[in-house]
Amino acid sequence: MADLRKKVAENVGGEFFVDSTCIDCDTCRQLAPAVFAEAALYSYVHAQPRHADEVRAAVRALLACPVGSIGTVHRADVKSVMDDFPMQIEGPVYYCGFAAPDSYGAASYFIRHREGNWLIDSPRAVTHLMRRLEQMGGLRYIFLTHRDDVADAASFARRFGAMRIIHRRDLSAQPDAELVIDGEPPVEIGPDFRIIPTPGHSPGHCVLHFAGRYLFTGDHLWWSAQRQRLDAWRLSGRDAWQQQTASMRRLVDESFEWVLPGHGGRIRLPHGEMRQAVAALVERMRA
Ligand code: SF4
Repeated sequence: MADLRKKVAENVGGEFFVDSTCIDCDTCRQLAPAVFAEAALYSYVHAQPRHADEVRAAVRALLACPVGSIGTVHRADVKSVMDDFPMQIEGPVYYCGFAAPDSYGAASYFIRHREGNWLIDSPRAVTHLMRRLEQMGGLRYIFLTHRDDVADAASFARRFGAMRIIHRRDLSAQPDAELVIDGEPPVEIGPDFRIIPTPGHSPGHCVLHFAGRYLFTGDHLWWSAQRQRLDAWRLSGRDAWQQQTASMRRLVDESFEWVLPGHGGRIRLPHGEMRQAVAALVERMRA
């Protein structure tokens, strides 16, 4: 729970504030950009919500914050907002909210599917979210993009009898996973899901291509709103960067419209524009 005595100096006065425990995960800025902004390595309230929609967005951010750094001066009505998660992004794809501190606040996603639902990376295993997922049909698969974002995956797997999927090179983060991906070839699961190994950020990093339209990219690929372009996390070590560049090159030939990352911005672009944006990123990475 956020502590008013520790609020950061940049907050504007009013109901919402951020305290000094913020880990700069970006979740609040994604969910309520009208309210939260980034200072040096943490967030702050740059403008208090002006109407009901902005209040609701700020409360969503409060709920999703992995470390409880967002507070209100008076008691906020969080109960009525909890049901907003999972929050529909488009069609069968949802953002889970309730980010986990163990994954540094990475975004996790839920896909509703006729042959069984999927969780992509793990949110916090809070009772309310568990119940909501149950109401929405439970989980069949839990796809883990890489070793850093497994968080509470084991709890979700136990609760729903779901199969966790992870690459063998990142298996140390989830040694008892039920489905292990090997090597570099893509792996198809049913007609709609394709797991594509993209080593670089971690040795076993993978992305998930769904329904010819959505790409869940973990920490491999994300949208920079500031630069208005796709971007990749620069890693230390020349070999890892070369490997990540080669992995990015594989995505140029894939057809998708959405990039849904663990960290960073989400984006939808028409297929052709997306292909060009990925190709341009590959060129920048090579340079
Ligand atoms: S969601 Fe919480 S931890 Fe993440 S940037 Fe916002 S205040 Fe900081």
